[in-house]
Amino acid sequence: MAEIIIAGAGHGGLTAAYNFARNGYSVTVYEKKQRSELGYGWKDSMSPSAFNFCGMPMPEKKVFTPGVPNCYYSPSAEIKLLPPDPVNYSKYIDRKDLYDILIENCESVGVKFNYGANIRSATVSGDRVTGFMTEKDGALSEVKGDLIIDAAGVDSPVRTSLPASVGIQNILADNEVFYVYRAIFDRKTDESLDPPYGVFFYRQDRPGIDWIVCEENSIDILVGKFGKMTMDEVDASIADFRERYGFIGDNMISGGGGIYRIPVRKTLPLIVANGYALVGDSAAMAEPLSGSGITMSMKAGKMLADAFIVDYSEDFSAARLWRYQYRYFNEIGNGYLSQDIYRSALVQMTSDDIEYLLREKIITIKEIEGAGSYVFNDIADKVRGIGGRRSLIPIFVRAGAALAAAGRTAKAMPSTYDKDAVTEWAALYGK
Ligand SMILES: Cc1cc2nc3c(=O)[nH]c(=O)nc-3n(C[C@H](O)[C@H](O)[C@H](O)COP(=O)(O)OP(=O)(O)OC[C@H]3O[C@@H](n4cnc5c(N)ncnc54)[C@H](O)[C@@H]3O)c2cc1C
Repeated sequence: MAEIIIAGAGHGGLTAAYNFARNGYSVTVYEKKQRSELGYGWKDSMSPSAFNFCGMPMPEKKVFTPGVPNCYYSPSAEIKLLPPDPVNYSKYIDRKDLYDILIENCESVGVKFNYGANIRSATVSGDRVTGFMTEKDGALSEVKGDLIIDAAGVDSPVRTSLPASVGIQNILADNEVFYVYRAIFDRKTDESLDPPYGVFFYRQDRPGIDWIVCEENSIDILVGKFGKMTMDEVDASIADFRERYGFIGDNMISGGGGIYRIPVRKTLPLIVANGYALVGDSAAMAEPLSGSGITMSMKAGKMLADAFIVDYSEDFSAARLWRYQYRYFNEIGNGYLSQDIYRSALVQMTSDDIEYLLREKIITIKEIEGAGSYVFNDIADKVRGIGGRRSLIPIFVRAGAALAAAGRTAKAMPSTYDKDAVTEWAALYGK
C-alpha cells in the first residue's frame, strides 16, 4: 500500500490526510509540536462551508462565532470607512477547537500522528522528493514516503531545503511575507470603538495593517507589516493605541507569542513535483488581506486527495499531481492574482499616499472589501483621479498592465502535464 507522509500538522495537511486515509491510503503526519501545543490563544475567521467542501461532517454550531463588520481607518485615523449592508461575514473559530475537529476526524479514519518530530530537511533523489529527515528525542532519522505532502507552513524546512533540480521556488522575498503580532488584553473601561472592529492602515508610517477588536471582556490587538517587523515597532503601535483608546488594559490575557510570518503573495508557480505536493502557507496560498489562509489550505488539501481517490492511483509523479495544481489554480489560485498585484502596489506607497487615496475616494470600501479585486478596474479613471499626486501614476499604470498580463497568464496554464510547457508557463507566472 502506498505510504503518504505529511510534513507538519497544518490545516491543509490534515484535510488531505483525512481524505486520503478514508479512501484506503496509509497516512502519517509528522509534527514538531506536541498535540496540546497546537493552535493559538485566539479566534480566526474561516468559512464554515469549507467543512462541506472538504467532505467532513459540519461541526456543531457552537464552535462558530458570528462575524462582525470591519470599520477601516486611514493612517491618520481621520477617515473612517464602513462596509455597506448587508455583507456575508466569515465566522470565527477558536484555533484549538479547529485543531480538535481536524485531528479527531483524521484519527477516526486511521491517520497516524508522530508529535515532537522536528523535520530538518527534505531527502531527494534526482528530481524526486523521497522523504525527510526528522529529529526526535535528540536522534536524527530518515522517513520515506511515496508521496510527501508539505503542510509545514511558510518556512517549511522541506520546501526551503529542496535543491534546484526539483524545480520548486523555495525562497520568498521579504515583502512577500506579512509579519504579524497578536495579543488579547483585558479592558480598562466599558467604552468601545464604534463599530467594535477597527482595521487601521499604515499607522506610524509602517506599511502594514493593524486591528483592534473590542470584545465584551477583552481587547484583541493585531499589529502587522509587509516585510520584517521588530518588537520595538509592535510596542510603539500598542503604546500609541493605548494613548488614543483608554479602554485597552495593561494585562495580556492570551496570545503575545512573538512575531509570526504569513505569506502574502500569489501561490508559488509550481506546487507539485515528482513525489511531492505543497498545501497551504508552504505554497503561499494564504491571503491575509482577506483572512483566508485556513479555508484555502483546507480546500487545497481536499483537491489534492481528489486527484487520486477518484480512481485509487499510486502514481505520485508530477504529471499525475498536475491535476491537483491545475484544479487549485483554476478554482482558487488564479482568482488571487489581482490581490497580489494590489499588495505589490501597496508596498510601494507611503502613509501619505494611502491617506490621499482614501480621502479622494480613489480607493473606496468596494476595493477594500474586495481585498484589491477591483482596485485597478477602470484604471484610466483612477489615473485621472490621482492627478494631484503624480508619484502614484506609474504605480497604478504598472498595476493595470500587470493585471492584464495576469489574465493572459492564467488562461495560458497547460491543462495537461508536459515538463517543458509547464516550466515555461511557471516562468511566465513567476514574473
Ligand atoms: C496572527 C495570525 C492571524 C491569522 N488570522 C487568520 C484568519 O483570521 N483567518 C485565516 O484563514 N487565516 C489566518 N491566519 C493565517 C493562517 O494561520 C494560515 O494561513 C493557516 O494556518 C495555514 O495553514 P497551513 O495548512 O499552511 O499550516 P500552518 O498553520 O502553517 O501549520 C504548519 C504546521 O507545521 C508545523 N511545522 C513547522 N515546522 C515544522 C518542522 N520543522 N517540523 C515539523 N512540523 C513543523 C507547525 O508546527 C504547524 O503545526 C492568521 C495567522 C496568524 C499568525
